Parts: sequence; C-alpha cells; structure tokens
Amino acid sequence: MIDLHTHSTASDGSLTPSELARAGKAAGLDVMALTDHDCAKGLDEFLAEAQRLGLRGVPGIELSAEVPNGQLHLVGLGFDHHDPALQSAFEQMLGGRDARNHLMLKAFQENGIDLTMDEVARYAGDELISRVHFAQALIARGLVKDLAEAFERFLGKGALCYRDRFRYSPEECIRLIQSAGGIVIMAHPLSLERDLQALEPKIAALKDAGLVGMECFYSTYDTETTVALLRIANRLKLVPSVGSDFHGTPKPSIFLGQLPVSEAVKQRLCEYLF
Ligand code: AMP
Ligand code: MN
Ligand code: MN
Ligand code: MN
Repeated sequence: MIDLHTHSTASDGSLTPSELARAGKAAGLDVMALTDHDCAKGLDEFLAEAQRLGLRGVPGIELSAEVPNGQLHLVGLGFDHHDPALQSAFEQMLGGRDARNHLMLKAFQENGIDLTMDEVARYAGDELISRVHFAQALIARGLVKDLAEAFERFLGKGALCYRDRFRYSPEECIRLIQSAGGIVIMAHPLSLERDLQALEPKIAALKDAGLVGMECFYSTYDTETTVALLRIANRLKLVPSVGSDFHGTPKPSIFLGQLPVSEAVKQRLCEYLF
C-alpha cells in the first residue's frame, strides 16, 4: 500500500518521524511520504527509519498556497530537501507563521481569552506552532469540546481569532519544488472548490503551471467523490494520488493503511517518485 500525505511532530502530527515510519510499516504500507506543513526537519529521521524497515520512504512537504477563495494545499514529493533555495523558502514561511501566531494570540487576548504562547507551544514540542496546537490548548482549557468546534468558533478562515499568514502563490510553490527536483500533487482538491464543475478549470490552470497529480484517494472522501476526482484526473492527464493526511491524535478518525488502491495506481506513482 502507498500513502503520500502524512504529518509528524515536525508539524502538527503526534508521532515522531521514526514512530510514523514504524506505524506505516505496521499498517501495511510499503511506500510512504512524510509531508509536514512548511517544514522538512523531520525528513532525515523519517527516511533513515523507513530505510531500516525496508519501507520506500519519500521526502515530502505540504505547502498552503495563496489563493483568492478556498484553500489550496500542494504536496511536494521526491525533492532534495537540503536544497538551499528550498530551505530559505521554508524559513520565510516559518517567519510568516510565527508573525501570524503572535497576531492570533493577540486576538485571543483582545477577546478575553488569556492564552499564552508558552501554553500553545507545549502542544508543539520544540517544533513549529500550528493552529492545531492553538486548538489543543483551547480544548485543554475546556473552552471548546473538540478540534471542529475550535476551528468553527475561533481558528478557521474568517472565524473570530483567525489571522492570515504569508503564503507563496501556487506558481511559486510549484517552481520551488520543481527546482529542487521534485513533483507537485494537489492535496484534498475539494478544499479549493466543492463544486466539481468549477473545480476542474482551476485544476487545469495548476496543471499548466506544472502540477503533476491530484489526490483522488483521501481519508474523508467517499467512493463517489473519488470516482468523480478520478474522472477529472483522467481528463486533465494528471496522476491520481493517495493521501491519508494522517496526523495521529489531533485527527483521531484518520488512520494509516486504510486507502487500498490498485497495483496500477501505485506503479504509476512510483514511476514518478523513484
Ligand atoms: P496552520 O498551518 O497553522 O494554518 O494550521 C492549519 C492546520 O489546521 C491544517 O493543516 C489542518 O491540520 C488543521 N485544520 C485546518 N482547518 C481545520 C478544520 N476546519 N478542522 C480541523 N482541522 C483543521
Ligand atoms: Mn495539519
Ligand atoms: Mn492540507
Ligand atoms: Mn495535510
């Protein structure tokens, strides 16, 4: 089985990169990418552990691109994660994230919720701070019951304490990954646009910018959605990809090894990756 979209403690997942590789192996994966948000710090550890386990590990990243409506997340795969231009772009994104986090903290305080950065950072360990870690702090205080409520009331786009952060354009994200020798896949396409007819031309424009594939097999997509996305991929000559978006405890209903695909789908992806 193959899974090309997962998160570790290097961003907002709960398993360390080595624990994640071991969990993937135990769940029956034989090809697996680690795709932390904006951060390649977990990759050396992940790839070393994957190799030790006889799992084909793929270096990956998930970037949030700047788009006027919806959310566009791009998964970069198979790039040189030590590439200096890429490293400096990651630093730029981390800086933007840090500035955004301080603005969100201020927004909480202005709304009478005296969260501190230390409190939020506890959920991030030593790694980058994501909105998921804000959500965990709010849950621990009993202010919300779960992640969904935290995003709906406080953290989601347009919610009370949401603040935007610096993002590269879709074209810049694609170019950065390509320049470091990798390929780019569109993550969870419905986040950009739920209307499939309106979605297709938007994906076509990304293909013109260098997009190679799109996730058709995704943990929260039902069979009907997967079939519709496979049709779009087929029409646009994009490679269908497989991504669980596993995070561990922050998203307890998402598991590894639950997206079986045909050997042909896996082989086609492997041709691009190895
Ligand atoms: P950030 O990268 O800090 O802006 O946080 C984005 C992360 O929050 C995403 O990667 C998801 O893991 C999570 N997230 C975003 N929207 C939601 C939502 N509506 N419900 C649950 N988790 C979400
Ligand atoms: Mn996440
Ligand atoms: Mn995403
Ligand atoms: Mn993800």
